Order: sequence, then C-alpha cells, then structure tokens
Amino acid sequence: MTTSTQVHLVRRPTGTPRTEDFATVAVDLPGLGRDEVRVRNAYVSVDPYMRGRMNDSKSYIPPFGLREAMTGGAVGRVVESSSAALPVGTAVLHSYGWRNLAQGPATHFSPLPETDLPLSVFLGAAGMTGLTAYAGLKRVAGLREGDVAFISGAAGAVGSIAGQIARKLGASRVIGSAGSAAKVALLKERYGFDEAFNYKDAPVREQLRGVTPDGIDVYFDNVGGDHLEAALDRLNTGGRAALCGAISQYNSTERTPGPDNMGNLVTRSLKLEGFIVGQHQDLQPEFARQMTAWLSDGSVVFDETVVDGVENAVGAFLDMMNGANTGKMLVRP
Ligand code: NAP
Repeated sequence: MTTSTQVHLVRRPTGTPRTEDFATVAVDLPGLGRDEVRVRNAYVSVDPYMRGRMNDSKSYIPPFGLREAMTGGAVGRVVESSSAALPVGTAVLHSYGWRNLAQGPATHFSPLPETDLPLSVFLGAAGMTGLTAYAGLKRVAGLREGDVAFISGAAGAVGSIAGQIARKLGASRVIGSAGSAAKVALLKERYGFDEAFNYKDAPVREQLRGVTPDGIDVYFDNVGGDHLEAALDRLNTGGRAALCGAISQYNSTERTPGPDNMGNLVTRSLKLEGFIVGQHQDLQPEFARQMTAWLSDGSVVFDETVVDGVENAVGAFLDMMNGANTGKMLVRP
C-alpha cells in the first residue's frame, strides 16, 4: 500500500493557531480508479487565507473539515495515471496541498506549461499570488501612468510582486512597508521601491506621512488596521484603494474597530474596493503571458522561503503569519 503523509486540522484554533490544532497523519491510498492520477507534490503553498478556513464561519470559501486533509495550492508531477490527458511525468497545478502524495480525478489537476521557470513559481509570482497583485493594481485600483502607489506587506508573496507590477504599469513612485530592517533594504535594493519603512519602528501614520510629501493615488492593502487608516489620511482626491487582505487582524479574537477617518472617503472622493482573486480569473491568460515574459527577461524578480518536510508545514504556516518569510512561503514535502 502506498501512503500519503498529510496534515489534518484536528481542532479549530482560537486566536493564534497552535501546533496541537493539527496532526500529521499517514493515510493509505487506494488504487487508481478510471481517469485518475497520483501526483508527487514538489511544493505546497501555505497562505494567509487558510487561517480563515480554520474557523467554522461563512466565507467565500468553505472551512476546512476536522480530521481530514487540509487543501490548498500545490504543484507536482504525475507519478501514476489512468488518464490519457495527464500521462506520467506531466507537471500539474492543483488544490490537494498539505500532503506529499495527492490523488484524485484527472479533471481536478491542471497541466502546467513546460518553461525554464521552476515549478514553484506557479504557486507564487506566476500563480495565484502574482495574479492577485496584477488584478488588484490593474483592475481594482485602476493604476494609471504617474500614480504614486503605496503597498503594505510589501516583502511578502503578493506585496513583492505588486511593487514591481506597479512600476510596470507606470507608477511614478512606489512606497512599501514591511516588518524588519532587512526587508526594508530588500524592497529598495531588489524590488525597486523608491521608499520603504519598517512599520514596527514608529506609528505607520507618522512614517507614511514622512515619505509621501505629495500624497498617494493608489493603496494596495495587505494589512488593514493601522496601515489602512494611515493610507486614508494620505490618499489624494480621487484616490483608489484595493483591499486585498487584512493580515493584522486574522488572529484577532476581539472585533477590530474600523478606521477613524472614513470621512476622507467623502471629502476626497476616494474609492475603496475589496476583491478576491478568484473573481478576476478572466485576467489569467493576459497575466500569464505578461508575467512569464517579465520573469524570463529578469525584469520582475521573485523570492521564496522554502521549508522542507510535510511534517513542518504547520510551522511554515505559523512562521509565515509572523513574517519569517521573504516572498512566497512554500513547503517542499
Ligand atoms: P505574505 O505577505 O507572503 O505573508 C504574510 C506577511 O504578513 C508576513 O510575511 C508578515 O510580513 C506580514 N504580517 C503579519 N502580521 C502582520 C501585521 N500585524 N502587520 C503587518 N504585516 C503583518 O502573504 P501573501 O500570501 O502575500 O498575502 C498577503 C495578503 O494578501 C494577506 O492579507 C492575504 O490574505 C492577502 N491575499 C488576498 C488575496 C485575495 O484574493 N484578496 C489573495 C492572496 C492573498 P512582515 O515581516 O512585513 O510583518
């Protein structure tokens, strides 16, 4: 019998998840049925949205079930197949993450193009997080030539790509925030941000004011809370904010108060729009073409923080929520 080593959620976390909320389990896999594949995962993704799925609450995506394998983005190669469409060796993208071996109907696995790029990039810069950055800036915020853009969570998977896409779309200045001096240096030296600050050094409101003498036109929000409030103070008339995430609040056990300066929406005709990347799948072909070209010619760079061992996936998730990652956090199971 072949076994798959998988991570199960065994208890719904309150506040910050603990390792005891999860279990690593070896599960026997049945033989393949008709039109099925077995895939050895090369990389599995750990993402902030998964924190929401650990709660038993209504959202745009159902909660994880208890005592069953969690799901999430993964890439790998087919190692056994009863499907003519996906022969052994095919590289695939799918949602049976949090495990080393995945198995299911071939229709649940999407073949990936054979490129010179590493497979992992289809979970990050050329995958879901890259598309999030692209859709958020291009469509939701409608970034235009000459705009000043501020991006929070700027050294992470979405943020590091968003900073570079903002420049590609014609931003005149790109400003970022992140949680350490090393990340701030990286934003300026590697990802091409004009200005960056460590949000832990002083209140975000003060720091953002200091680096935006002409205000901002676009805010790409990964963080919420103090960052959103600071951006609302600095958005120019007609400014647009793409609300992508609010990671500062995902482990909160109390209700979080809203920004204290919503009046600015009226006086400066601001537009705030939340979005989920899945609503913008129609941009995928255009995004894939653009991003593959940018990554191939080196004009967009990406980083990954890789943790080995499926049994360490929970640790990787918790570390990512705490900022241990630069760029995309991945597990090599
Ligand atoms: P990520 O940025 O690679 O990793 C999370 C980062 O959040 C950490 O590295 C940490 O970096 C930062 N962080 C943690 N607590 C924070 C706090 N209290 N204040 C400020 N920063 C904090 O993750 P990602 O996958 O790219 O996701 C980024 C955001 O986009 C998340 O809010 C996520 O939910 C959202 N997202 C939304 C969509 C969508 O469809 N709307 C899709 C993908 C992702 P520091 O060291 O800088 O603190």
